[in-house]
Amino acid sequence: MKKRVYSGIRATGRLHLGNYLGAVKGMLAVQDEYDCIFSVVDLHAITTPYDPKTLAESTRSVILDYLAAGLDPEKCLLEVQSFVPEHMELAYLLGTVFPVAELEDLPTYKDKKAQHPKYVNMGLLYYPVLMAADVLLYKGELVPVGIDQEPHLEIMRQIARKFNGMFPSAGSGQVTFPEPRRFKTEGEYVPSLTGEGKMSKSVEGSYINLTDDLETIKAKLAKVPTDSGTLGGSIPQKGGVANLFVLAYLFGGKEMHHKYVEDYKEKRIRYGEMKQELSQIIYEQLVPIQERRRVLEANPEKVNAILKEHAAKCREIAQGTIKEVKEKMGFLQI
Ligand code: ADP
Repeated sequence: MKKRVYSGIRATGRLHLGNYLGAVKGMLAVQDEYDCIFSVVDLHAITTPYDPKTLAESTRSVILDYLAAGLDPEKCLLEVQSFVPEHMELAYLLGTVFPVAELEDLPTYKDKKAQHPKYVNMGLLYYPVLMAADVLLYKGELVPVGIDQEPHLEIMRQIARKFNGMFPSAGSGQVTFPEPRRFKTEGEYVPSLTGEGKMSKSVEGSYINLTDDLETIKAKLAKVPTDSGTLGGSIPQKGGVANLFVLAYLFGGKEMHHKYVEDYKEKRIRYGEMKQELSQIIYEQLVPIQERRRVLEANPEKVNAILKEHAAKCREIAQGTIKEVKEKMGFLQI
């Protein structure tokens, strides 16, 4: 049996370079080899303030980005999370084996609480349980996501372990759930254009979208804060300059990175020039994705047909897991 891979991105609009390098590149790397399910997790998107008028469009948009980036519907299943209600059923069941205090202690929960103090809902607290249910529903072993998701993966493993321990399989020695690991990519942490933290949809000015044109990319990079260029020595560890160098490495490779490191050391770096070159290189890598996206945008029926067919396949697998879980938990079977 091939290993099962599962990953999802929230339905909060268009994908940015962080999502692409941290998550989608990982999905692309494994789709030939493993049994993959990649999702748009719309049920997670409603845990923070959102607009019901744009949720459907945002969901479709992530699917289009997935397909345009090269996820092949012949090789992997593409899922819209809310089309498979078993996610919610399993989340409830798994929620009964996990302590509330540990969820309240999670840094991601605390951050979101601080960000939206008037929107602290049960769904937000439950986020990591639903995420565990997302992957465990398909008995996923590998999860291509960025490094920021590591705490959630740890919760997932704890839940799997706890369930396996509380409800052991009779005889076979086989556990119900594997303990999922993160599939890492080179761009597992793409830094923000603001110079602080990671590139994120929720921080305005921090990101470049996969759909941005050259002028937009140039304008966004132009705003990355830099220094005088005459400091010399080693590259700073954090801030705008540090982040420009990370982007140069991720998009321009060792060669481009090395060239600008030398310039920096020798106090002759010209950030304007570096930003121009970087904009061009990023844009060139996005052009084929944007071209494929335009074709897909013109074919909504084709995309809908894929989603319908794949949802049915996903539900079949999901229902098998739910049946097994309910049996093990002792529910009445008739
Ligand atoms: P955002 O933080 O922009 O709202 P999500 O939380 O929806 O993005 O994350 C979707 C996926 O993209 C996850 O796998 C996450 O780890 C990855 N990801 C998000 N931002 C970055 C980043 N800056 N660098 C690497 N991966 C990222």
